[in-house]
Amino acid sequence: MIKVENLQKNFGKLEVLKGITTEIKEGEVIAVIGPSGSGKSTFLRCLNLMETPTGGTIWIKGEEITAPKTNVLAMRQNVGMVFQHFNLFPHKTVLENVTYAPVKVKKMTKGAAKKEAMDILAKVGMAEKANEYPGQLSGGQKQRVAIARALAMKPEIMLFDEPTSALDPEMVKEVLEVMKSLANSGMTMAIVTHEMGFAKEVADRVLFLDGGVIVEDSAPELFFTSPKSQRAKEFLQKVL
Ligand code: ADP
Ligand code: MG
Repeated sequence: MIKVENLQKNFGKLEVLKGITTEIKEGEVIAVIGPSGSGKSTFLRCLNLMETPTGGTIWIKGEEITAPKTNVLAMRQNVGMVFQHFNLFPHKTVLENVTYAPVKVKKMTKGAAKKEAMDILAKVGMAEKANEYPGQLSGGQKQRVAIARALAMKPEIMLFDEPTSALDPEMVKEVLEVMKSLANSGMTMAIVTHEMGFAKEVADRVLFLDGGVIVEDSAPELFFTSPKSQRAKEFLQKVL
């Protein structure tokens, strides 16, 4: 589904990604783990070209998205993204947040978009809040709406950048549950997370990033019980 070869990203003189090579198969769930500043967000943002890579190549379903002729808008429809800080439209209702892009970008009729949006909102347990505004929702509810909004574009890939980091502890679970059911439905997912229990349970693979390179690429059972590198051992000692 995704193939990344020697991906590099610099911000001025700062080399953030120093040659990332990996593949994500259809239906695979990847947890991206690593210290703050290691390049996790930058890596994820390169996958949908929210950041333009400095070097290297990315293919999605065999199509080179780093090629100059790429239709970025079309590509992004297939790659949904969920952020730490929700980024919902504050002056639109929950339903309007979810129908906005399908109507605007996919040119769906309002009626059809609304019907689909209600189905998706039901899946994330937010159908009852369809006519409320983001300001009336808890953090966990906002994040579930943000997930619904991304799903409304029918992406084949979902990227999550610390989706629970801004939530009060009691709201983390409801968001992780939604992500878990998405993973079980066969969605291809890359998730930057500090929720080690979730990564262990849900991810097929853990990518451990440090200093802009993939230091380990292992099955969660292996990564969390016997990490190979000193850097991963030290990181896990701090977070577990
Ligand atoms: P992580 O998500 O692992 O914490 P990031 O990918 O956000 O790491 O950041 C990696 C490094 O790149 C950090 O040193 C950060 O300050 C820098 N960085 C990220 N985005 C930008 C940007 N837009 N401009 C300049 N530096 C950036
Ligand atoms: Mg980050």
